[in-house]
Amino acid sequence: MTEHDIVIVGGGPAGLSAAYSAARKKATTIVLEKDDSIAQNIRTSGVSWIDDIKRFEIPEKYYNPIKNFRIISPSKDVLLRGNSPKSCVLDVRATYQYLATLAAKEGAEISVRSEVQSVKLSPSNKITGVVAVTPKGRLDFDSKLVIDASGFNSIVARRSGYAYNWSRYGIGVEYECYCENIDPETWVLMVGNKYSDAGYAWIFPISNHRVRIGTGVGRPESLSDPIKKLNTLIENKIKPLDELKNIQPIEYHYGFIPNEGARKTTIFDGLLLVGDSAGQANPLVLEGIRFAIEFGRVAGEIGAASLSKGCTKESLQKYEKFWKDRVDSKIKSSLKVQTRWLKMSDDAWDREVEIIRQMGFEDFLDFIKAQFTTSKMMKLVLTHPHATAKQLFSLILDK
Ligand SMILES: Cc1cc2nc3c(=O)[nH]c(=O)nc-3n(C[C@H](O)[C@H](O)[C@H](O)COP(=O)(O)OP(=O)(O)OC[C@H]3O[C@@H](n4cnc5c(N)ncnc54)[C@H](O)[C@@H]3O)c2cc1C
Repeated sequence: MTEHDIVIVGGGPAGLSAAYSAARKKATTIVLEKDDSIAQNIRTSGVSWIDDIKRFEIPEKYYNPIKNFRIISPSKDVLLRGNSPKSCVLDVRATYQYLATLAAKEGAEISVRSEVQSVKLSPSNKITGVVAVTPKGRLDFDSKLVIDASGFNSIVARRSGYAYNWSRYGIGVEYECYCENIDPETWVLMVGNKYSDAGYAWIFPISNHRVRIGTGVGRPESLSDPIKKLNTLIENKIKPLDELKNIQPIEYHYGFIPNEGARKTTIFDGLLLVGDSAGQANPLVLEGIRFAIEFGRVAGEIGAASLSKGCTKESLQKYEKFWKDRVDSKIKSSLKVQTRWLKMSDDAWDREVEIIRQMGFEDFLDFIKAQFTTSKMMKLVLTHPHATAKQLFSLILDK
């Protein structure tokens, strides 16, 4: 049996960020990660936004800056050119291992090959720790607070009966490939049935000769297997993959991401949920790394501050208020747009991509990042004459 102030389940960006800030506040902290190493199995494409990544003080050597966005639908091909890089594609393994180093430097313990299997509850239903299978055998990890950062799995919340399995979710598959001909400053999204029957495909460059090529589908809208679609796209070099010339896969990645909005409750006596476990992702393009890092850091800090108050639900309220104020309504609005996108025909996608072309670079950026404000959306409704555009922007305004 071991005892810590805070036990963190999952060594992804949320868990490692929570460990960093909890340890900084002098809480004794351990991260339990089931895989053999941090970021051993990559479950993400690693696209994020330079402003956020800089705010988290992640060094520039860990990402490839992106200036331009290209969106391809069955009969449209739109390139939005930026003046300076706004987005980036992370070297995921290096970034997550850097986050682990930050946490370790602050004094957090990290235990890999440690799979949490069950939860310890007091007679009054307070979470008092977890049980994990580790290289030292099956161990009890007692704690005052457990942070569930186990991603899609939400293992602690589910095992304690506080959360259900996700019923709407995305599945994504991708190859990280060597390619001959890459534009390293441009990422590409491809929409329409030949790329995904309910979702999109992507090309995200990491360097001059390395890209991630993938496709994803939303369940339950699609029951198709995304790997079949991805293999067909690559084998037949379907536009724009023909431009990449020689494509040779070097790594295969796959993962699941919740797609039904954030969980209503993310705090309980002795337990807090963060990252994908809490459903904190932008449903528009299913991106959650920046939320995982930001809310992970806040979770660790507020968790550490709650130790003196018994880590009750009440003492964790500040955490839930923080993330809900920041993103809850944005996630709800994006979900409405995403639900529309999952059902669109090829013709409807052509019309939608035309709206994106008319939006221009800056408005598209705000839109895809889910940075909606009422005034911005009103402006878009007023400046876009077409009925489809009005319909799209009104969807977001309609609370
Ligand atoms: C295919 C795909 C592509 C994506 N692309 C992007 C993108 O380009 N940009 C972006 O921002 N977001 C993207 N996302 C979403 C992003 O990956 C997640 O939002 C983000 O990883 C959430 O971080 P997390 O730490 O909450 O969870 P995760 O990164 O999933 O980390 C959870 C960790 O918990 C561990 N774990 C699980 N169960 C247990 C257990 N029982 N015991 C111990 N450890 C456990 C896992 O091994 C894992 O290391 C993508 C998701 C998918 C599926």
